[in-house]
Amino acid sequence: MAQRLKGISAANGIAIAPLVHFHGDLDFIPIRTLDPSEVVAEASRLGDAIGEASKAILALRKRLAEHLSDHDARIYDAQLAILNDPAFAVELSRSVEQNLCNAEIAVQQVAARYEKVFEAMEDAPLRERAADVRDVARQLLTVLQERERSVYIAHGRDYVFAAEEFLPSDAGLVDRAHLRGIVTARGGKYSHGAILARSLGIPAVVAVEDVLRRVRSGTTVVVDGDSGIVIAAPDGETLDRYQRTAAEQAEAERRLSEVRALPSQTPEGVRVRLLVNVESARDLDRIGSDVVDGIGLFRTEFAFMERLQFPTEAEQVAMYRRAIVWAKGKTVTFRTLDVGGDKPLPYLHTPDERNPVLGWRGLRICLDWPDLFYTQVRALLRASAGGHARILLPMVTTVDEIARCRAVLDEIRRDLAAAGEPHDPAIELGAMVEVPALAVVLDKVLPLVDFVSVGTNDLVQYLLAVDRDNPRIAQMYTPYHPGVIRFLHDIARKANDAGRPVSICGEIAGDHYFTALLLGLGYRELSMAPVFLPRVKLMVRTFGIAECERIAATALEAGSASEVRALAREHGKAGWARFLSGG
Ligand code: PEP
Ligand code: MG
Repeated sequence: MAQRLKGISAANGIAIAPLVHFHGDLDFIPIRTLDPSEVVAEASRLGDAIGEASKAILALRKRLAEHLSDHDARIYDAQLAILNDPAFAVELSRSVEQNLCNAEIAVQQVAARYEKVFEAMEDAPLRERAADVRDVARQLLTVLQERERSVYIAHGRDYVFAAEEFLPSDAGLVDRAHLRGIVTARGGKYSHGAILARSLGIPAVVAVEDVLRRVRSGTTVVVDGDSGIVIAAPDGETLDRYQRTAAEQAEAERRLSEVRALPSQTPEGVRVRLLVNVESARDLDRIGSDVVDGIGLFRTEFAFMERLQFPTEAEQVAMYRRAIVWAKGKTVTFRTLDVGGDKPLPYLHTPDERNPVLGWRGLRICLDWPDLFYTQVRALLRASAGGHARILLPMVTTVDEIARCRAVLDEIRRDLAAAGEPHDPAIELGAMVEVPALAVVLDKVLPLVDFVSVGTNDLVQYLLAVDRDNPRIAQMYTPYHPGVIRFLHDIARKANDAGRPVSICGEIAGDHYFTALLLGLGYRELSMAPVFLPRVKLMVRTFGIAECERIAATALEAGSASEVRALAREHGKAGWARFLSGG
């Protein structure tokens, strides 16, 4: 029966495909009650998993015997004995049959029973077998889950990714060619999983409570990224309706692509620079540098998060260089490592914090760990030769932090010059404005930097005291709050008065409902996920500056977020309708 699940819209568009569970850890095990007709298939799934787990352990045993000795390799024999014990297999199948449960649950139940038996033994070596049982259970669970997703990956079938969260490491893992949609149980519109989904241009719905328990792997789903809804096992009529909508959207996108190559300027000819946000140099293969003004935000930490250890200086140089070459002389803004908060580095142990987003994150980590920062800045400088690279500092809180970073930059520049290493001696240094207090003292900041970029994702969370990742209060996280609008106005005014370039690189820069309002507030440079660029350019080309300023003046007088939102929607929709009607 069709099931309608509500979540939060994270990336627009419609996807229709089977949903496949992906989860990196085994702490989450899907629970499912079987229909009696499914028992035989589930038991055979178990049998296959036992065979595969035995093969994997045998291979491990062989490797250990070669590298150490056969004696050492015998530690695996106990595990093989359990897996090959017919009684173990029979118990597992019986558990599936009697409890009508899925294979994963049967493994957990039977393993728990075996463990108890071993733990109660008098003999110490036998008691230790309990650990082997636990390990065997883990191996079986891993195989069962791997198999499930590999069915889709190996056969090149379209699928919808489903997991507790969509992590940067998943972006490297999934088969992108067939990834049609993303559904997660956690996260918010502005969390990094959602940002990644938008970067990939994949419809996504996040914060769908308990989705992994409620929708079994393999079920066909509709991901309605526009309304934040997931429909599992849709009926024929619903499918037809969504297929029609998807076709209409594809047609609108096709027409939008005509806008791609047109100049980004208002009807009276005011230039608005449109740049892209990227999380990986890999993203650049899908974007033509000739139709954008460069990269406004390269989130370098994502490349660090996809790995198992820190990239070396040489590896970083190669990665940054790839972006510089792609840009063909256009701006490339590299943000220095912004880890911590909701972006942990698996190999950088940071202490548990009660309020991680207010904690040891971004520039704070880099300034405490000079080696890390020094290596990255040196790699950026070495990659900068012959291009237009800019360095952007995240989470700047004080003027003093900028001075300390500038001192590091100067020192590296001197070293490279002395060593005759090519680099751009005029590389620009900028600060992200995402900590509200920095915006308040912007007059003191501007003389120290070459440019500023407003990170509205964090700025909004700090201004409103609303966690950008918390689905429970997601409706309170609104960049349309008049307090935010006034703040943005103030930042643009101060930067424009001082003649310092100012851009917005938070998600609102890619929201075409916001475009006219942002132009009216004084912004002329916006950086966004590439998918949003045509729509935003369309808005730039639709509204004259005088009209944008009228919209901004009304928003600045508004008393509520809903008023500002209604105003922005009205103009966004009007611009879109004008385009569709050929105006
Ligand atoms: C922001 O905070 O607006 C921003 C662009 O950075 P991130 O989303 O990576 O925190
Ligand atoms: Mg930020």
